[in-house]
Amino acid sequence: MSRVYNFSAGPAALPTEVLEQAREELLDWRGSGMSVMEMSHRGKEFMSIAEQAEADLRELMGIGEGYKVLFLQGGASLQFAMVPMNLMGSAGKADYINTGAWSKKAIAEARRYGKVNVVASTEESRFTTVPAADTLSFDENAAYVHYTPNETIGGVEFPYVPETGGLPLVADMSSTILSRPVEVEKFGIIYAGAQKNVGPAGLTLVIVREDLIGSPIAGTPTMLDYGTHAGSGSMYNTPPTYSLYMAGLVFQWLKRKGGLAAMAEINRRKAEKLYAAIDASGFYSNPVDPVCRSWMNVPFTLADPALDATFLAEAKEAGLVTLKGHRSVGGMRASIYNAMPEEGVDALIAFMAEFERQHA
Ligand SMILES: *Cc1c(COP(=O)(O)O)cnc(C)c1O
Repeated sequence: MSRVYNFSAGPAALPTEVLEQAREELLDWRGSGMSVMEMSHRGKEFMSIAEQAEADLRELMGIGEGYKVLFLQGGASLQFAMVPMNLMGSAGKADYINTGAWSKKAIAEARRYGKVNVVASTEESRFTTVPAADTLSFDENAAYVHYTPNETIGGVEFPYVPETGGLPLVADMSSTILSRPVEVEKFGIIYAGAQKNVGPAGLTLVIVREDLIGSPIAGTPTMLDYGTHAGSGSMYNTPPTYSLYMAGLVFQWLKRKGGLAAMAEINRRKAEKLYAAIDASGFYSNPVDPVCRSWMNVPFTLADPALDATFLAEAKEAGLVTLKGHRSVGGMRASIYNAMPEEGVDALIAFMAEFERQHA
């Protein structure tokens, strides 16, 4: 068996140790005589798995008492609707920051439920930067402020948390959650599809401040009301049990690695060396303002796009896969989430240098 270095943006690589543990436990989870996939979600075995996962996530992120942790389905894309459905309430309006493709989708969906004010947009820069912190101002009567801390496609990441003057801050952290410590108290809601930096597809994490639960707009389906899930420990209906179990194994792996501060050190180092290699070459380039380059998703182009196909084919030969950029931006993209070991980034950098030597 040989495993490649998989630079996919999502579903993305999982830590090998986690997959090995899952294999170990696949047929018989800790003497239960069955696979986690076969367990009742209400049985004591699975309940213990879910409780441990929540406790570990709370410990890793420092999630306080005043927040509910929900394990949902529907991906981050369903949160684009659930956030306005649950929060737009009597205000009927919300402020959004537009920094790229995922912000735009969130904005378009929210418009179905109320008035959306786009208070800042970096579209003019072709989404290669984020608005400066001191240029942001919000409607004090807005229900909330929504932003995308890391734009997975553009490779743009906020180097700061917006100051909202008390308005609930909602963050789509799909591609940056668990990459470094965050101050959860600064947020009203943090949500993330699991398949980037948490676990397999199918699970969506929602961390929501309790006071934001309980006033959905009229007509909100039961399943889309945060209150339904908060009141039932995410067991109103069948949660994505196996994905939740796998996420739990990832949380334990992160704890063994030293937690989010330790991951941040590694992630910073991985990103810095890859950007340094790109910047030092005359052949590769990344258009993003250096102060807001993503630690997780590194898009880059080749000086001659006619070489893209050769680059991808030779990279694959070298065991470096899924480097093709998003169809909307072209070029390459290396996603280097927690599960990408530093050696994988080193191998990519060495390959890029050799490719440049041969083809530039
Ligand atoms: C991938 C991604 C999404 C979409 O996630 P789904 O879980 O597929 O709905 C939304 N926002 C960001 C920032 C993403 O990276």
